[in-house]
Amino acid sequence: MAIDVEKVEGEIDYDKVIKEFGVEPIEALKPKLKKLEEISLLYRRGIIFAHRDLNKILDAIEKKENFAVLTGFNPSAPLHFGNKMFIDQAIAFQRLGGKVYIPLSDDETYVFGKSNSLEEARERAYSLIPKILALGLDVNKTKVFVSSTCKYVYPLAVKLSRKTTLSTIKAIFGFNDSDNPGKFFYGVVQAAHILLPQIEELEGRVPTVVPIGIDQDPYIRLARDLAEKLNFEKPSSTNHFFMRGLRGGKMSGSKKESAIFLDDSLEIVKEKIMNALTGGAPSREEQRKFGGKPERCVVFEYFKFHLVEDDERLRKIYSECREGKRVCGDCKQECFEMLAKFLESYRERVEKAKDMVGKVLLE
Ligand code: SF4
Repeated sequence: MAIDVEKVEGEIDYDKVIKEFGVEPIEALKPKLKKLEEISLLYRRGIIFAHRDLNKILDAIEKKENFAVLTGFNPSAPLHFGNKMFIDQAIAFQRLGGKVYIPLSDDETYVFGKSNSLEEARERAYSLIPKILALGLDVNKTKVFVSSTCKYVYPLAVKLSRKTTLSTIKAIFGFNDSDNPGKFFYGVVQAAHILLPQIEELEGRVPTVVPIGIDQDPYIRLARDLAEKLNFEKPSSTNHFFMRGLRGGKMSGSKKESAIFLDDSLEIVKEKIMNALTGGAPSREEQRKFGGKPERCVVFEYFKFHLVEDDERLRKIYSECREGKRVCGDCKQECFEMLAKFLESYRERVEKAKDMVGKVLLE
């Protein structure tokens, strides 16, 4: 089964997703998640819903052993708040001792037709580096690599390609004979990204966790299968709820109106938030009388997933909405002000992070 992120419009049944993908619900690990819950609202608020083998990472954290965290980006679109969730997870693992690796797949952008040239895709990848670092990664424990230029990627991908077959790749990803061969090969390239921290020149064989969208789970399955064949540790993964698009449906980098991008102007951010789907009643009077439905509200998702760190404050927003003490216009204005504050300080950090690119780049 594959979820096509670009096509998801309705609600996703996550219980069904857990069963069909064969991932594990996160609750079973509950007592061991305490450290992550303390430092990450994504864990504390149940936004991470499933995993594969996360217990290996939790054990490494407990024993203070080396482990790696890997989360990659396709530089086909600018970063948005949905992308930020992957980095937020990487930061949490990094704070608990993990070494972060970030592949930027310019090759994927190109072979899947999202850029006119490989050079253009590569430029976009390099320009993302300070924008990723500025989200709060520790540059002393982070390595970023651009897939087509990192010397370690191709040799590993070639080795992995010997351990799989075209029919396996076709069965996993559903490609057909009219697709270009770069798409077929990209399956093993992405497996190489996932396993790269474990090569001898880097961390050696270590547990590795990959925060990943559930739609990308086939890549993890392939990497886990290949890991065993090359004597690597099978990578672990975590999956989180998708943020919904600003007008409902799925947030997507290819739909500008569905997301707030980290380089949107504040005017655009304001316009997007003011037009966002809420759980509010049809009129101000009805909202005051019957209350709103924060669980259906995209604005509330921004508070919950990103903007409100303090749980008590989030609970207050929730209950004020339910009880009709909060109306959507004011609430959206509050959300915009928080976003503006975040983005202004983020942009200053991006400028500073430009000097750090050489330090983190794995060439
Ligand atoms: Fe959403 Fe706020 Fe309106 Fe409640 S008051 S529905 S949280 S925008």
